[in-house]
Amino acid sequence: MDFDLSDEQRAIRDLARTFAREELIPQCAERDRLPDGADAFPWELVERGSRLGFNTLALPKEYGGAGAGVLTQCVVMEELSAGEPAVSKVYSHNWKAIAGIMAIASEEQVLRVTKDFVKDPRYCLGIAMTEPNTGSDNSLPYAGDVQSGPRLTAARKGDDFILNGMKQFIAMGAQAKMLTIYARTNGSVPWTEGTSAFMLFPPKEGFKTGRLHDKVGLRLYPQYELLFKDVRIPERDLMGEENKVHHSRRSITNIGTMEATATALGIAKRAYELALGHARERVQGGKPIIEHHMIGMMLLDMFTRLEAARTLLWRSAWSVDNGRKDDPKLPRVGKVLAVEALNFITTRAVEIWGGMGVMKEAPVEKLHRDAIQLFHMGNTQQVNLLKALEQL
Ligand SMILES: Cc1cc2nc3c(=O)[nH]c(=O)nc-3n(C[C@H](O)[C@H](O)[C@H](O)COP(=O)(O)OP(=O)(O)OC[C@H]3O[C@@H](n4cnc5c(N)ncnc54)[C@H](O)[C@@H]3O)c2cc1C
Repeated sequence: MDFDLSDEQRAIRDLARTFAREELIPQCAERDRLPDGADAFPWELVERGSRLGFNTLALPKEYGGAGAGVLTQCVVMEELSAGEPAVSKVYSHNWKAIAGIMAIASEEQVLRVTKDFVKDPRYCLGIAMTEPNTGSDNSLPYAGDVQSGPRLTAARKGDDFILNGMKQFIAMGAQAKMLTIYARTNGSVPWTEGTSAFMLFPPKEGFKTGRLHDKVGLRLYPQYELLFKDVRIPERDLMGEENKVHHSRRSITNIGTMEATATALGIAKRAYELALGHARERVQGGKPIIEHHMIGMMLLDMFTRLEAARTLLWRSAWSVDNGRKDDPKLPRVGKVLAVEALNFITTRAVEIWGGMGVMKEAPVEKLHRDAIQLFHMGNTQQVNLLKALEQL
């Protein structure tokens, strides 16, 4: 594997870095403190980044996107996430959603979404799987267990399906112009054999958003409850084969895992840089604290973990781009390693900043709050380990 990025990759990385430093960092810290509400969502920044090409970066060229490979996506995501992970997540969530749609939907359905997606710099997508009683079970199907998995039902009525139930924690639930809804079309078999996916284009009669979840971190990347009461979806919006969505969905999970890993790396990188900068400037005992051995060693440890996590991610991404049949455990354990590294690094950054580290006026406490979100995104640590274990 060649670790040199191509000229094209360096150019898009530099564009992302400049956008992150000059626009995301200065504008997002204040916005992060706003009370929750749809009006806190940074539409202008999302639109600005879309116009720079980030929203359609991962969309294949034949649909009007840039067709960037997974390694390029990871490099860009790390830079944007180092600026504001909540904004970068909007783009990478869209990349993941598009990959999911392409894996399960018909060509006509893909075109229906992508023709508007490429034209509209505010086009966002949603993926609605999690419900109050089903989270990890959606990724860890238990053979023969009829009780686990989605409870939201989709009952056939003539040429339509009628959806009833609710979802929770759904990213961009109120902003999305199209949502992929996972619903149970057969409740008498395990969910892997009785779940289907539907396209939903709001507004839609009977469909509404419920609570906006009030998170401690990634506050500009919103999650909502979604409520369904007799929502009628026509058969033309059923994606793929009825009851069989689980089987086609499996092909996209590595992409979702890697975009979460790249998000983690961006936050970790910023925390490391802030800790390093502070340690060089802050004088105690008559010298910069970086010259105190214990602080220097902490920084070296942070650096090592960050580099190790990035190397593993790049290797996984390179393998996908080059069509290699690489070890399927790598993206899974890579996400676990990166999220552990991230939370180690942001905690150390708060320590190195001293008392100022926990003050809202300083930048590191936000990174610490953002970091814990990553435990639950791109599958939990335990789910990723269990999935990797299956391949041991
Ligand atoms: C910021 C954010 C964005 C999100 N965006 C979306 C979205 O867009 N769409 C969507 O559908 N969902 C989304 N989610 C939900 C996310 O996918 C779930 O939170 C996640 O899958 C875990 O489910 P849960 O919260 O129900 O936890 P649970 O499944 O209740 O798990 C609780 C704990 O138990 C562990 N656990 C569970 N089962 C096992 C087992 N068999 N062995 C060992 N440990 C186990 C888990 O790893 C976890 O640590 C989002 C969540 C967050 C925080």
